[in-house]
Amino acid sequence: MRAAQLIQPRTALQIANLADPDCPPDGVVLKVLACGICRSDWHLWAGHEPDVALPQIPGHEYCGVVREVGRDVTQWRAGDRVIAPFILACGTCPDCRAGHQTICATQIIPGFTAPGAFAEQVAVARADTNLTRLPEGMDPALAAALGCRVTTAWHALTGRAALRPGEWLAIWGAGGIGLAAALIGKALGARVVVADVVPEKLDHALSLGIDAAVMATGHDPVSEIREITGGGADLAVEALGVEITTINAMKSLRKLGRMVQVGMPAGDHVTMTLPWDVVYSGQLAIYGTRGMPAWRYPSLLSLIEGGTLDLTPMIARRVALSDVSAELAAFDGPAPPGVAVITDFSR
Ligand SMILES: [Zn+2]
Ligand SMILES: [Zn+2]
Repeated sequence: MRAAQLIQPRTALQIANLADPDCPPDGVVLKVLACGICRSDWHLWAGHEPDVALPQIPGHEYCGVVREVGRDVTQWRAGDRVIAPFILACGTCPDCRAGHQTICATQIIPGFTAPGAFAEQVAVARADTNLTRLPEGMDPALAAALGCRVTTAWHALTGRAALRPGEWLAIWGAGGIGLAAALIGKALGARVVVADVVPEKLDHALSLGIDAAVMATGHDPVSEIREITGGGADLAVEALGVEITTINAMKSLRKLGRMVQVGMPAGDHVTMTLPWDVVYSGQLAIYGTRGMPAWRYPSLLSLIEGGTLDLTPMIARRVALSDVSAELAAFDGPAPPGVAVITDFSR
């Protein structure tokens, strides 16, 4: 199969013909239809994931067609079109049984702890626990984003911080996950303001019906958001994983507000200096979140299939496998609006 391998951080991925993946007894092998290029892939490319052994095939938000089925799999057959969360949970440990698959201690993460889907084929272990059928007629490029960015935003807002209709939602960082959170927030009846440093991203968000947009540089974006929201947001999402946006997100909340850390702090941002008096005096709640348990797919898919949530404007670029290195490098700077998805694995 053709696959793109990361050999060394910050170098172009090597595209090569590799052996087809072996099918795990409890898993499937998919023919990959589409795979998103996510900021977490950039973290791996940039060398922020020292625990990941290289070479590795990145790619953790994908959809595909089942081409091979392991002997222990009971629910899937060849030809099924499926999606999976980026965290492949075991399904049997106490945390999984309690519904908390995102903290499963033995989780497998394609693209990091197993070969990922920047390839014509990917092996997906633990298929019965983690796969979900792709809704009829859903564009594979859109479905791929349901592996990481959309599902992570969905779980952050509804599984963790309990966003309610009418609340003000402030989103710091309008990349793929921030844009997904903004569109989900609107679909759930919240009022949404986004902050970013890239004017094109703000214009894009406004064109999609987001209530307000704030430039996060050059002045005081926190005061601006506090003014727009009439005293502070009810819920703030940090969607970048850096110190300044985390500080701003905390400060943009009204009293009793909630903040969700959705962006992954990495590199210099693993340790942050934060205004903890804001948490005390504002009586704030701070949530961490990562991924979504597979059992929560139906709640999100019904919103999409029912037409309440249209995520198609998220997909900005459909690219080939050979475009991956350029797309990863683009995350170094202010990346353009929307997300890039690999849909052509032949070149
Ligand atoms: Zn991701
Ligand atoms: Zn488990």
